[in-house]
Amino acid sequence: MSILIVGSTALDSIKTPTAENPRLLGGSASHASVAASFFSPVSLVGVVGEDFPKKYLQLYKSHKIDLAGLQILPGKTFHWAGEYEVNMNNRRTLLTELGVFETFNPTLPEAYRNLPYVLLANIAPALQHHVLDQMKKPKFVVADTMDLWLNIAMPDLLKLIKRVDGFVLNDSEASQLTQTDNVFAALKKIHKLGPKYVIIKKGSHGSILSGPTGIFICPAYPLGNVKDPTGAGDSFVGGMMGYLAKSKGSIDANIRAAMVHGSVTASFCCEGFGLTRTTKVKPADIQKRVKELEKMTRF
Ligand code: AMP
Repeated sequence: MSILIVGSTALDSIKTPTAENPRLLGGSASHASVAASFFSPVSLVGVVGEDFPKKYLQLYKSHKIDLAGLQILPGKTFHWAGEYEVNMNNRRTLLTELGVFETFNPTLPEAYRNLPYVLLANIAPALQHHVLDQMKKPKFVVADTMDLWLNIAMPDLLKLIKRVDGFVLNDSEASQLTQTDNVFAALKKIHKLGPKYVIIKKGSHGSILSGPTGIFICPAYPLGNVKDPTGAGDSFVGGMMGYLAKSKGSIDANIRAAMVHGSVTASFCCEGFGLTRTTKVKPADIQKRVKELEKMTRF
């Protein structure tokens, strides 16, 4: 089944202690869509400017991502620049140029409104609401977010959390949202805000799900060399949603395996700048790492 993914479609300029790469294809929706496309067809909703390179449009198309919901407007594409510290965990934003994002009004093509799976990838919560308002009767809706929205759009975010089935955030955002540093206490508090499924991402330490069947600790695939973790969280949630959309049976029956597939997809993301590595992945590469993870964690 097909997934609707809305989020940022960006040009990312990324600096690490050893390299610098300007204007790569990035954005939460780009990472999530490519990751999801390994498992299910994706319909992308986003906006880019006239400066958006044709080769990036081609890259979406080569992953069979439907672009009827991608607006191309006069003006500049959203541009984000970030720099990583030596440990590759701490990152600071150097620049955010909103460009065409400033006036973005996501209007869904009619055919998108019946899609069963919806991923509201990181974008302003008001826009996530606007997309959800246009959906007819989605089966499973998951939202992701970032610290910026906790800082400047908390009322909108709290309303959104009430409307979704699943909410995904990283550990520092969870502690900011719940005022607790204990991840299990945070999961309980976030359930009280509405969602049935809460996932806290812990970077290279994996992620934790709390849902109707209890807690699941999902490992990260161990990597000896991280080149650029930008978009790993988006790849994780995109891969997870893609896997859920292609799986028969209930969400509860599939969500753990879906998280492991998301985790493996995110591992490829970290091995190259932007989407350079992820876009070269073959389904067999994913299956190989899933099997390895299974071996490493079974006892
Ligand atoms: P992550 O590494 O998972 O935090 O995601 C990084 C992606 O988020 C980059 O590709 C950026 O283009 C995108 N991004 C950065 N700032 C924003 C923002 N304010 N709104 C939406 N997306 C953003």
